[in-house]
Parts: sequence; structure tokens; C-alpha cells
Amino acid sequence: MTSEAHLETLRGEVRGWLDVHAPKGWRNARQSHEQFAADQRAWFLKLVEGGYAIPHWPAEWPGGGRSLAEQKVIYEELTRADCPRLLLSFVSTYHAAATLLECGSEAQKARYLPAILKGETWCQGFSEPNAGSDLAALKARAVRKGDVYVVSGQKVWSTMAQYADKCLLLVRTGADGPKQAGITFLLMDMKAKGVTVRPIHQIQGDEEYCEVFLDDVEVPVADRVGEEGAGWAVAQATLSSERGLTLMELSYRMRGAMHYIASLIRKNGLENDAGVLRDFGQLVTRADAACAIADRFLANRIAGIERVGDASLVKNTYSRVLREYSALGLRLGRMDEQYLAPIVFGDLNTGNFMADFMNSYAWTIAGGSEEVQRNIISERMLGMQREPKGWAA
Ligand SMILES: Cc1cc2nc3c(=O)[nH]c(=O)nc-3n(C[C@H](O)[C@H](O)[C@H](O)COP(=O)(O)OP(=O)(O)OC[C@H]3O[C@@H](n4cnc5c(N)ncnc54)[C@H](O)[C@@H]3O)c2cc1C
Repeated sequence: MTSEAHLETLRGEVRGWLDVHAPKGWRNARQSHEQFAADQRAWFLKLVEGGYAIPHWPAEWPGGGRSLAEQKVIYEELTRADCPRLLLSFVSTYHAAATLLECGSEAQKARYLPAILKGETWCQGFSEPNAGSDLAALKARAVRKGDVYVVSGQKVWSTMAQYADKCLLLVRTGADGPKQAGITFLLMDMKAKGVTVRPIHQIQGDEEYCEVFLDDVEVPVADRVGEEGAGWAVAQATLSSERGLTLMELSYRMRGAMHYIASLIRKNGLENDAGVLRDFGQLVTRADAACAIADRFLANRIAGIERVGDASLVKNTYSRVLREYSALGLRLGRMDEQYLAPIVFGDLNTGNFMADFMNSYAWTIAGGSEEVQRNIISERMLGMQREPKGWAA
């Protein structure tokens, strides 16, 4: 049931719960990475307890089975209460869960989904140094030996891999036929012998993603999702989760963070500057549009009328507006904002505009680059001429 009255009741419940439980003061804390991870785990477990961590999971899970309208209410309230983003567990609750729910065996679901709710975290080991946009070119090799696959190779850009317990891993098990045909999907234990994780230090001071080196790592055959060589299809389930629900949450968070810019306008006495007000007005309108596009995408998905390219529209709109948001903040903050203040982990809209600005570029790449999304929109949605085969970045 998603009548207006029901949604307002839910909103009141979530708001009341957050009044008591929402983490306070996390934006001012100068956290170490370890403290960040500990705080993220604690907040996730608190949300599980409250029934608001996994509204997008099926109804048999505590807090699951929420309609799209209900999920929106929960995300709006989390944003309104200025809670930290669940950076550490989003691969677990979205990517891993979508993969397991859609393609996992009953044994895999029974083993891994409850563990996620107890705080087990996952990372995604898809990209490699020469396989990003052209993911099917991946080379990490898995050779079956009895009941295990022995895996060697390198992954890169694995978000939060330094804290992860498990990894959604794409490997090559065959070289014949089209590139996609030889790919297999494994669930790897990050503590297994032969796994080395090296965090990548970023320009704004964070270490959000990692290189992962695999040296004869043994993964049980029981931890293969789908058949050997069918990993490409499984990976589509993983990727489809990323571009919808996550981007809806991010769009709402960005919309909710406009107060940082409003504060800068007031602080710098720009309330009567027509040019500034015009730019701010345009930004707010575009952020509203990003939310509306994300909403429509999810509504279409639920109604079963999602078009190829819809997810790309959501992602490109969000990442563009995020850049505009942080650029306007940096501009209006004048010299005060032109330095890299200590960074706040856990959000993309921190009000620390130098860090936010540099970080905003990551979202034009993460989950498939902006150019690749444009190719999908132009070729597959609008039916325009396809790019020549063999084009290379
Ligand atoms: C914040 C962040 C988090 C990430 N997290 C993860 C993660 O957890 N796990 C994971 O596996 N990966 C992750 N990635 C990696 C991400 O999926 C890749 O960076 C992305 O797919 C692009 O691949 P690439 O970096 O190899 O760039 P390339 O594919 O080498 O592209 C380089 C440039 O060429 C352009 N280009 C490439 N092909 C085409 C084409 N056909 N037409 C037009 N232009 C093209 C691209 O747009 C880009 O500008 C993350 C990346 C970021 C930024």
C-alpha cells in the first residue's frame, strides 16, 4: 500500500527513529580510515536493527519489500537527517544482493545474504588495468583444479576493497569464441591466501578504492555464480543494480545538500546578486530534474517498461549536475574555499567544496564512463549510427 496517508505515516516513523539514532557530528570528526570503517559498520548495523538498511530487498528480509515510493521516503529522510552515506556496504546491499537474488543458488543466498545483514562487506573486482570500458577484455585467469578455481591476475578501482570480506570477481576461464563467452563469475574470500590489496591514494586525500593482486588464489567451485563461461550475463545483474537505486539515493542527497550553497550565498552577502541567484536557481532546477529522471527510471523498471539507455540517462544527468554543484560551491566560496580542507569520508556532498569538486569527476567514470553511456544512449536508445568496430581509447 503506498497511499499518501501511508507514506506520511512511514515518513513520521522514519523521522522519529532518525531523531534518536542518526549519527551526529560525523562531518566535523577528523576520522582516520579505521574510524571511518568502524563508524560505517556501526551505522549500517543500526539501520538493519531499525529496518531501514535494505528497503529494496524482498519482503522476507527484515526491512525489505518496500515499494519504490516507500524507498524514496526513507532515502529522503536519511538525507534530511544528514546521515553518512553507506559507502562501505553499498556494494554488499546493492551489487552483491542483486547478483545473489537474481542469479545465486539457494545455498549461496542462504549463506551470504544473512551475513551481509550481520555486517559482512563486499567489494567488486571487475575492472582491470586494461579492461574498464571494454570490460570483456579482462584477463585475470581462473583454472579449475578439482573443487577449486585457481585465480591469478590483477583488479583495479575496487571500491572499499581494503575493508571487504568478500569480492564479486569476474575471471577468464576460456579464450575461445567471443570475449564475453569465456568469463566466469566467482565469489572470492578477500582473506584467502594470495590476495593482496593496495589502496590508491586519491587527489583529495581519500583512499576509496584499491588495486587487488591475485596470486594463485583458490576459490571453491561452490562459489561460482551461474555456469562456467556464463559470468557475463551474471555481471549484468550486478551492474543493473548500481545505476538505478544507488543513483536515486545520490540524486536525492545532492538535492538535499543545496543548503551548503545557500549558506555560502548568505555568508558572502550575495543574496541580491542577480547572476548568483540565476546560477543557483538553474542548479536547483537541474538537481530537481536529476531526481525526476531517477524516479522515472525506477518507475519504468518496476512497471517493466525500462528502455535500453534509461539507466545511462540517469547516471549522466546525476554526474553532470554533481560537477556543476561542486563547481558553483567552489566559485561562490571565493578564496575561503580554494584550499583542501581535511576531508570528510562518507559523502559526495560534504560542503568542503575543493574536495567535493575533485571527487565529482569520479562519478563521470564510475559505473561506466560518461562517453560510454552516451554511446549507449545514441546507438541503442536513439538508433543513431554505431561507432566503428575496433575503436580504442
Ligand atoms: C569512483 C570509482 C569507483 C569504481 N569502483 C569500481 C569497483 O568497485 N569495481 C570495479 O571493478 N571497478 C570500479 N571502477 C572502475 C570503473 O568501472 C572504470 O574506471 C570505468 O569502467 C572506465 O574504465 P577505465 O578506467 O579503464 O577507462 P577506459 O575504459 O580506459 O577509458 C578511458 C577513456 O576513454 C573513453 N572511452 C573508452 N571507450 C570508449 C568508447 N567506446 N567510446 C567513447 N569513449 C570511450 C572513456 O570514456 C574514458 O574517457 C570505479 C571507478 C571509479 C571512478
